[in-house]
Amino acid sequence: MNKKYDLVILGSGPAGITAGIYAMRAQLKTLLLEKNYITGGQMLNTYEVDNYPGMPLISGSDLSEAFEEHAKRLGLAIQQGEVSNIIHEGHSFHIQTEQDSYVADSVIIATGTRHRLLDVPGEKNLAGMGVSYCATCDGAFFKDKTVAVAGGGDTAVEDALFLSRICKKVYLIHRRDQLRAAKILQDRLAKQENVEILWNCEINEIVGEQQVSGVEIFHNKEGNYTGLDVDGVFVAIGSLPNSHGLGHIADTDSNGYFIAGEDCKTSTPGIFTAGDIRAKALRQIVTAVADGANAATSAFRYLVDLHKNCQ
Ligand code: NAP
Repeated sequence: MNKKYDLVILGSGPAGITAGIYAMRAQLKTLLLEKNYITGGQMLNTYEVDNYPGMPLISGSDLSEAFEEHAKRLGLAIQQGEVSNIIHEGHSFHIQTEQDSYVADSVIIATGTRHRLLDVPGEKNLAGMGVSYCATCDGAFFKDKTVAVAGGGDTAVEDALFLSRICKKVYLIHRRDQLRAAKILQDRLAKQENVEILWNCEINEIVGEQQVSGVEIFHNKEGNYTGLDVDGVFVAIGSLPNSHGLGHIADTDSNGYFIAGEDCKTSTPGIFTAGDIRAKALRQIVTAVADGANAATSAFRYLVDLHKNCQ
C-alpha cells in the first residue's frame, strides 16, 4: 500500500537531516529515506571536521550522530530505502524503492555524491585489496605501511594527513604542480615528514596479484613512466552526483547536478534539491546544512500554496 506524505526527503547527509529538522518544526508529515543503514552520508568518511562552527575537531561520525539524534528528537521518521524512480502524476510524486513505494506532495533530493574512479587497470579488481576510497574507514589496515593517495583537493590532502599518522610513508600523487586543497591543509601537510608529494604525476596502473604491490606512474611533464612500490592506494579525486534514476525529474547540468538557486527550487514545482547534489561552487557541511534549511522552507511554502489552490 502506498504511504502518503507532505514531504519525502532523499538522503541523510547534513542537507537531508537539516531539511528533516526544519520540516518537523513546520509540522509537515515527513519521511526521510536513506539508501544506507546508517545516516550521515559523506560526513561519515571525515576523520576530523574542523570548519563546522562551534564544533572544533569533532569527528564526522560524532557529528552525524548528533544530527540524527536532533532530527529524531523532533520526531523525524527515517527509513532505509534506495530510490530507483520518481513518477510525477498531477501534483503528486510516486517514489519507488526496491521494497516499497510512497506518495508525496513534495520531494527534497539530497542524495549527495559518490567517489569518482581513476578508471585505470587494476583499480576495479584490487578494490578492497589495497585500493580504497575512504582513508578513515580503511587507514588502520595500513599501519606502518607505505601508501599512495591520488588527488590534490581537500579530500586527498585530508586523507594524506590522516594516513601520515598511521603509515610509515605516504605519497600524494597529483596530476598538476599545485594543490587545489585549502591553504591551511596544505600547510599542515608540509609539516609531515613522512609525506612526499609527487607533482605532475598520474597513476597509470595499479599493480598486484591478490593485493596491491605498487603503481605505475606517468610523469606528464617528462612523458615517461616509473614504478613505485606501495601497499595501498587511496583514490580521492573528487565526486560524481548520485542522480541515478532521478535525473529525469528536474533539470540537471551537464555533469548531472540538479540546477537550483539558493531557494533550492528545481525546474519542477514540488521538487527541491539540497547539499552536494545541487549545482554550486562550494561543497561543505555548512553549505549543505544551509541548503537543507532553504529546501525545507521552500517546500513548506510550496505546500501551503498547493493546499490553498486545491481547496
Ligand atoms: P575536488 O575538490 O573536486 O578535487 C579533486 C582532485 O582530484 C583535484 O585535485 C583534481 O585535480 C583531481 N582529479 C580529478 N580527476 C582526476 C583524475 N581522473 N586523475 C587524477 N586526478 C584527478 O574533490 P574533493 O577533494 O573530494 O572535494 C570535493 C568537495 O568537498 C570540495 O568542494 C571540497 O572543498 C569539499 N571538501 C571539503 C572538506 C573540508 O572543508 N574539510 C573536506 C573534503 C572535501 P585538479 O586539481 O588538477 O583538477
